[in-house]
Amino acid sequence: MVDQTKIEEAVRMLLEGIGEDVNREGLQETPERISRMYGEIFAGMEEDAGEHLTKTFAVASNEIVVVKNITFYSICEHHLMPFYGRAHIAYLPDGKVVGLSKLARAVEVYARRPQIQEQMTVQIVEAVMEHLKPQGAIVMMEAEHLCMTMRGVEKPGSRTMTLASRGCFQEDPRWQELFFRLIKEDKMYNQDLAMWDPVDK
Ligand code: ZN
Repeated sequence: MVDQTKIEEAVRMLLEGIGEDVNREGLQETPERISRMYGEIFAGMEEDAGEHLTKTFAVASNEIVVVKNITFYSICEHHLMPFYGRAHIAYLPDGKVVGLSKLARAVEVYARRPQIQEQMTVQIVEAVMEHLKPQGAIVMMEAEHLCMTMRGVEKPGSRTMTLASRGCFQEDPRWQELFFRLIKEDKMYNQDLAMWDPVDK
């Protein structure tokens, strides 16, 4: 549980710091509102991806599993500003697989913390390796960072891509190529996050 009193106090100070009147009508409930919201967007602090990824079941054949376009919202730990986008995950099983929605749940666990995208990508691939013990795993994330597009260099539409691979995806480029082909071929590609210009329009 987040410490609501602390967050409320901090928000009040922050507002005062920028010269606001914390008692004006529009701001009166803001500290409380933010502390409740933080409980939600940082809920991953208390969760373990293993809770989701340990619910595995056996498979007879080891074919590649890809879950793509997992939408996520996270908070950049350097600026406490949102970054959001999509994650694509693949693994080559070694006798066991996990429910598909569990991979999305694992992404949520890591997204709902103060984060940096590079670290989150590695955490997800390592969680898949640890709990599924597959022959290999790969994670690609693409995101827009508001700390980059709303301030600073102000480059709207710029996206950050990160990649982390383990096992066969790291050792054999053919597996990586297959992964990229599978995440690219998608007729529905442009339907989510419509605020973005699609990559391959
Ligand atoms: Zn940032």
